Amino acid sequence: MTQTPVIDALAPWLQDQLRVLAPRQAHALLLTGAPGMGQFELAAALAKSWLCEAPIDHVACGQCAGCHAVDVHTHADFSVLMPETIALEQDWPLSAAAQDAIDKKERKPSRWIRVDAAREVLSFAQVTRSRAPHKVILIYPAERMNHETANTLLKTLEEPPPGLRFVLATEASHALLPTIRSRCQAHTMACPQPQQIAAWLSSQTQGANANDMQAWLYASGGIAHSALTWAQRGLTHSHWQALPRQIAAGQPGAMADWDAAEQLQTLLKIAHDLMAKAAGGASRFFADDALPPSPDLRALAAWQQRLIQASRTVEHPFNPGLMLEAWLSDAQSLWTR
Ligand SMILES: [Zn+2]
Repeated sequence: MTQTPVIDALAPWLQDQLRVLAPRQAHALLLTGAPGMGQFELAAALAKSWLCEAPIDHVACGQCAGCHAVDVHTHADFSVLMPETIALEQDWPLSAAAQDAIDKKERKPSRWIRVDAAREVLSFAQVTRSRAPHKVILIYPAERMNHETANTLLKTLEEPPPGLRFVLATEASHALLPTIRSRCQAHTMACPQPQQIAAWLSSQTQGANANDMQAWLYASGGIAHSALTWAQRGLTHSHWQALPRQIAAGQPGAMADWDAAEQLQTLLKIAHDLMAKAAGGASRFFADDALPPSPDLRALAAWQQRLIQASRTVEHPFNPGLMLEAWLSDAQSLWTR
């Protein structure tokens, strides 16, 4: 079976998917799945395989000049279209104009894929290839395109110039314009078995103790790549398990430094588990004994609704610190009625 450094770097269930997808001739592939299923990792490995100068069974060799250029984010035939916030985190270069505007603090890095970035990538698509067998445009997370950005891409996505291939990865396929979805060949990310996830997580975090690993799996709802992100952020078992009672007491606990969206997701996880417990079901994100006593059921349901409502607008926090304070006092009121 094909084994290259590029394959080795992937989780086992992503390796299988790469072997299946790399030989496909589709000009636009759309990888869909819940957050943390590894769609970006798979999309990047696919792009690399298409750009590789000496692929082995269609999979990137990991050794050639093309593979190297992809690794250091300088491949001339590879464009990545992502929100500026993510590009900056992952060290992908922005256009000179965008970088300049952000450096001069004329605007903040966008959490959306900007239409001018899409236009620039399309003009890249018109230029002749330099060295690779293909040009590749990777779009992630594809649901972060607004209508204007998506519409800018539609025509090229439908009839790409020869040699141009797209790979889109999304964590919310329902949020994509149907016209984008219909122009792509869709692939649903495969869901690994819990024991596969545990073995992989252990191999990725040598020396991690079993309790912390359990906490990462809890925090991620059992989703592999999200669990690894929690591990990399240094979440510990004691921090995670202390959270529900701290929240019930109006304390931020480990959440104090997290971004607003993450705080809200965590409150939703607590609300979910309290609801599940009240209904006689099993908790999913916390051990049973980590949960505070169940509050009044009606108040709990209303709280959950308020959190869901807040999560629709959390991308535009006016003052994250103030929001956390408000959320905490709202949560605390459930237990101090
Ligand atoms: Zn290569």
